[in-house]
Amino acid sequence: MHYKFNKKHSISRKLLKVVFTIYFSLTILITGIHVMVEYEYTKNIINDELKRLEKTFKPAITTAMWELNSEQLKALTDGIYNLAIVTGVEITDNEGLIKEKRGRAVGIDKVDNSDLFYYQMKIYREFDNKLIYLGNVRFYSDSSVVINRVKMGFMLILLNAVIKSSILIILFLWAFQKYLFNPISRLTQQIEKIDLKNIGDIRIDLNINEENELKRLEMSFNQMLTQLQIDRDYSNDLQMQHQDRLEHQVIKRTRELEEAIEELNKIAFKDPLTHLKNRRSFFEEGKNYMSIARRVKQPMSLLMVDLDYFKAINDTYGHIIGDKVLIDFAEKITDLLRESDLFARIGGEEFTIILNNTDCHGAKVVAEKMCRLIENSVFKEEDVELSYNISIGVTELDEDDKQIDDLIRRADIALYRAKEAGRNQVQLYCD
Ligand code: GH3
Ligand code: MG
Ligand code: MG
Repeated sequence: MHYKFNKKHSISRKLLKVVFTIYFSLTILITGIHVMVEYEYTKNIINDELKRLEKTFKPAITTAMWELNSEQLKALTDGIYNLAIVTGVEITDNEGLIKEKRGRAVGIDKVDNSDLFYYQMKIYREFDNKLIYLGNVRFYSDSSVVINRVKMGFMLILLNAVIKSSILIILFLWAFQKYLFNPISRLTQQIEKIDLKNIGDIRIDLNINEENELKRLEMSFNQMLTQLQIDRDYSNDLQMQHQDRLEHQVIKRTRELEEAIEELNKIAFKDPLTHLKNRRSFFEEGKNYMSIARRVKQPMSLLMVDLDYFKAINDTYGHIIGDKVLIDFAEKITDLLRESDLFARIGGEEFTIILNNTDCHGAKVVAEKMCRLIENSVFKEEDVELSYNISIGVTELDEDDKQIDDLIRRADIALYRAKEAGRNQVQLYCD
């Protein structure tokens, strides 16, 4: 059997230490008591045997002492001393003087605390109806006799203790390993293998069938793993949902941002009232029109349009009607122009138009057409009905023109002339 109780502070090792220390101490104590009881019991038996010697030897000793037969007394003493249970003999006379002594003997009236013990008998002889004290006899024995007698019993007691202890140790180790150490080791190994970041279907299996503490530990641990997995899945779902929400929000915000940029561009490049291009847009795009016309060597003309007496319309019908007249004008002129023409509102009631691939003559025709269209149409809005006119200054791209402003300046002069000449007409500033 191979036991891995190798870790210094492991519970298994500690448990074994505690259990066996207590068990061995108790075994030693009980065995000790057992041995002592056995010793005392045997000592009492030997004492009885010493006592029985009285019956055997007393008559002979009494006679020898009465007759003062020292030879016989000596022989008797030797005979007694030779007995296996006797380790010492001591015979004293009536005055306490030692007559015979063999082996271990302490002398009469002396107390001995050693392992020595004895049986004592007083010797009397009846004479003339009187008892005459002759002396004292002691048969000694000691622990060596007792131990010799109980040696076998001791051995059996010890053997019994050793066999019982060994069997208990083996049984304990076997049961401990089978029912506690092995399942705990399996539990530890399986726990160590679990990756808490990725639990999945992994669960603890201790291979225990009965409902004991380890089984309950296994079940509790597995419940904990399941709960942990559920919580992790839930938190992953939440994270995904959160991520989805964030992505949606980002998409929504991006769209809003794009719309805002688009709106900003509109504001930056479009006139909010008429939805025509604004001044800034006109100047930027006008530059491109100029360079394209130069590259393709085609004519290009610029028209400056101003509503006549527009202040009077405002004053008469109010600003709201004034605004609607501006919108009306923008729509009518847009319908008349080509897709490729550039039409913009560059001031209050001032508009500019670039006609590509159109010379001054062609531009005059278009401008006249515009004047007539506006002149002949009637603006209607609820109960308001009015007519208005426009004046137009026309110019053409010149070789020396460096920027749009050069054309604007000439068209403005032509427009001024149109106003001066009575309005509702077209004036040219062409070579
Ligand atoms: P002329 O024939 O000489 O051009 O006379 P006019 O009254 O049109 O010229 P003037 O420059 O004196 O007046 C232009 C007016 O246009 C003044 C201003 O109040 C008005 N106006 C400018 N922008 C707007 C606008 O966006 N809406 C409205 N309703 N009026 C505007
Ligand atoms: Mg005007
Ligand atoms: Mg004006």
